[in-house]
Amino acid sequence: MEEILRQPLVAIQGIGPSRAEAFYHAGVASIEDLLNYFPRDYEDQRNLLSISQITLGEDVMIRARVLSSPQNFRKGRYTVCKARIADETGALSAVWFNQPFIAKNLKAGETYYFYGKVERKYNQIQMSSPQYRLADQQSETPSIEPIYPLTTALTQKMIRGAVKEALLMAGDALEEYLPSAILQRYHLAQLGFAYAKIHFPDTFEAAGLARRRLIFDEFFIQQMALRQIKKLLDDETKGQIIDSEGKDAEFLAQLRFPLTNAQKRVWSEIQEDLCSPRAMNRLIQGDVGSGKTVVAMLGLYAAAKDGYQGAMMAPTEVLARQHFAEAIRLLEPFGIRVCLLSGSLTAKTKRQVYGQIQTHEVDVVIGTHALIQEGVQFARLGIVITDEQHRFGVRQRVALADKSAAPNVLVMTATPIPRTLAMILYGDMDISILDEMPPGRSPVKTFCVDHTYDERVYSFVRREVTAGRQVYIICPAVEESEESELKSAVEYQSFLQDVVFPDLKVGLLHGKMRPEQKDEVMEAFASGDIPILVSTTVVEVGVNVPNATLMIVENAERFGLAQLHQLRGRVGRGQHESYCVLKTDSKQANVRKRMKILVDSQDGFYIAEEDLRLRGTGDVFGLRQHGLPDFKLADLYKDLDILKIAQQAAEEVLTADPLLSRPENLRLKQKIEQFVDGDVLKNSL
Ligand code: ADP
Ligand code: MG
Repeated sequence: MEEILRQPLVAIQGIGPSRAEAFYHAGVASIEDLLNYFPRDYEDQRNLLSISQITLGEDVMIRARVLSSPQNFRKGRYTVCKARIADETGALSAVWFNQPFIAKNLKAGETYYFYGKVERKYNQIQMSSPQYRLADQQSETPSIEPIYPLTTALTQKMIRGAVKEALLMAGDALEEYLPSAILQRYHLAQLGFAYAKIHFPDTFEAAGLARRRLIFDEFFIQQMALRQIKKLLDDETKGQIIDSEGKDAEFLAQLRFPLTNAQKRVWSEIQEDLCSPRAMNRLIQGDVGSGKTVVAMLGLYAAAKDGYQGAMMAPTEVLARQHFAEAIRLLEPFGIRVCLLSGSLTAKTKRQVYGQIQTHEVDVVIGTHALIQEGVQFARLGIVITDEQHRFGVRQRVALADKSAAPNVLVMTATPIPRTLAMILYGDMDISILDEMPPGRSPVKTFCVDHTYDERVYSFVRREVTAGRQVYIICPAVEESEESELKSAVEYQSFLQDVVFPDLKVGLLHGKMRPEQKDEVMEAFASGDIPILVSTTVVEVGVNVPNATLMIVENAERFGLAQLHQLRGRVGRGQHESYCVLKTDSKQANVRKRMKILVDSQDGFYIAEEDLRLRGTGDVFGLRQHGLPDFKLADLYKDLDILKIAQQAAEEVLTADPLLSRPENLRLKQKIEQFVDGDVLKNSL
């Protein structure tokens, strides 16, 4: 039955190859895709008015005859198509912009339904860009019509027609798969009803019920999948057992500082995971500067001391090198052999390193995600740590969990993920939070200014540099050409170097530079040779230069709140008082609001919650990069109540039937497998 859903669109009557292609460009290839192509809004056509009853400024539906053939004419840059239409009570003009084909479609003498806003323009009553459709001879009941997101080659009419057909064809394939007890308990509409009514509701209440059910499904299936993964990991007894109880003393003794209480707590949580026969699957959330690296090094140390190998993956080369240096410093003194898998290695050296990893001549491997995932064979891999991980989705987690000897996985992130979202993203993982900063840090004083402050900001830079400190200046673009009014790193660096600070070294760092160049600059900055660094956001994650005390962000309005928070986290890492200057000329209220949140708060979690509140899910601080599933309907902020219900329901279903082996759960099981396999989760894998 489900096969009907997988049929290509051409299976629908009236859809040929060229129209199917138009749909394809909108991401719709199968009947199922089409059913999941949800309306973005509805138009209420139930309120059929006569022309004399129209209230200006409101969306109305009228039934009117086209008096004479519509005419196209040009008005400035537009083509305007204009038609006079009338019913028994009056007449008005209907106009469309840049849709000249309408002149051909609308026939003089025919009667149509028109739906749109009526306004007075140039002293004339006119309806702007109304939707229209031929009034059938047989009297049809006016309805609530769906409005779909359009791409160029598709019209509302085409989509509505196709969806109607698809709903008819799908019929029983949309059979209910949820236990009726769940439907009843959570007041959920039937699946068939939900699909029919989200597209063609009789009432807005019906549309609401349909929507609620489909949002529930999005959450429910995703939650079920994560719970399944968790179960997979929990049940196995194939985890590596790393016993580090009491063996960390000499490592801790060499540190220049005692661990914070939060670090101690998180480390003991990790130790417990490591020595259990179930593979660790843990997420560490710790704001920038909370000291995640040491915790990671402890994990690598414990594994190596117990005869296992460890891998640590970073998102960028710069960061991998930094971790490598740290590993050399903290691990090598104990005879632990560390190597760097760097993109700049020659093929030959790379092969050599691969060989050493395979024969266990190396204990700890540090590199970028790509390099380590490329198919490195470990002799005895005990722990995998990803730092500032991005795009490490459900599928990769399944892959790791599925390995015969599942390594312990530790995921570290500085992106503060609001609790509710963390459950969605990482519902299969245990979560530890580093919620304490190392002592002696004072908050980074943050200011928001416009360009009239340039001179003062430059003197501020000079003051810090004179005092022996260092400065980051972040630009949103690499080169001038990209977007005209944005400060570009390349131009700004040469301006600052030549005009403002001719006597100081001004460095440049951006993503288009070769890895070696980047490293060179980063090293020069880290060692203090370069006091001022103009950079794009490549310094965003992880980079640690404690002597840097001033962070200036140009075009701050261009960055997400969390990104700005990350950038700010590059300063205030040492004992010196630090500052962040957010520069923007934007007067927009929401930009002002966002900047104020940063000026007022240093708490990443609070900032993330505010960002979520202000923007809705949208692309909240690059969560999509984190593998946030691409929910079609669900809004993670507005629909939290439904998420909670979905979590309860998932718990309930799995308690009753942990393996989903009962026949009535078969369809559900298939749905979850389909979800994990792919399409639905495309974005997060
Ligand atoms: P992040 O969590 O952002 O990765 P890092 O691990 O880079 O933070 O740590 C930031 C800085 O704090 C480093 O210079 C590190 O040496 C220092 N640090 C880490 N833990 C402590 C601690 N317990 N006491 C004092 N300084 C610490
Ligand atoms: Mg870090």
